[in-house]
Amino acid sequence: MKHGDGKKWYLNAHNYSKELARKKKIDNYDHLDWLYRLDLVNLGLKSSLTRPVLNQFIKYYTSNIRAGQVVPFDDLGEILEIAENMRFFECICEKMTHGSGKNICLMLGPKSDRMNRIGKQKSEIVSKDDVINKLRELNDRGMIHSLWTYGVPFIGAICTCDDKSCLGILPHKKLRDYGVNQLMSKSEYLYSINEKRCSGCGLCSERCMFDAIEFNEQGKARIIRENCVGCGSCVLVCNRNAISRDERNSIPDFKGKW
Ligand code: SF4
Ligand code: SF4
Repeated sequence: MKHGDGKKWYLNAHNYSKELARKKKIDNYDHLDWLYRLDLVNLGLKSSLTRPVLNQFIKYYTSNIRAGQVVPFDDLGEILEIAENMRFFECICEKMTHGSGKNICLMLGPKSDRMNRIGKQKSEIVSKDDVINKLRELNDRGMIHSLWTYGVPFIGAICTCDDKSCLGILPHKKLRDYGVNQLMSKSEYLYSINEKRCSGCGLCSERCMFDAIEFNEQGKARIIRENCVGCGSCVLVCNRNAISRDERNSIPDFKGKW
């Protein structure tokens, strides 16, 4: 997946188009969800010998087959201007982890049409305003958003979830602990905290599900940039306006590190 390149890859209308869906044969990706259920730790993550092989597999998988990327709520408005035929479906991750899921999985364009045609659950097309209102409500509750491809770089879904059930976030966290490349890329942004503005209230660290916020001896919050996925969730709860974001690619140490 190419990130950045001037315009963000997910703001390119071609990546949502019927032509690309046809070329990528989106039907081929309907059966891949079983991959998310793999218990990679028991497959050998604890052994340093198997990590390079798994890294290669995940690199190939996320570059060619299926990839997800965290996207902050602030960028969703522009994406929804491009996407069409949006429908909410039952969250497949919640269904797989808890037996049933809320109607929060947003399918887009040709993928949405296909799901409605072949899936057990039928769903109505929703307006952009209704989508953004629903996503905002979920975001306010602490959930984060990610884009998902069905044959990179064709984008077919926006997931909204948390680390209790998401089969993108859960393996991301687990794999990170073992030094293996993640199934889900970080966002195009990196966040930082202005110490002078920070009151040390701790709300941001309670909100962050990636253990990316710590406190210094003076009680001021600091973002652990290696852990930050750039979801922007912490910004919403900071009433001191202390958290800001930069383009990931503008920071030399993190350029190209997704
Ligand atoms: S929410 Fe804002 S003020 Fe509170 S600890 Fe975090 S950065 Fe500091
Ligand atoms: S520090 Fe903020 S932007 Fe980074 S992962 Fe945590 S909540 Fe998301």
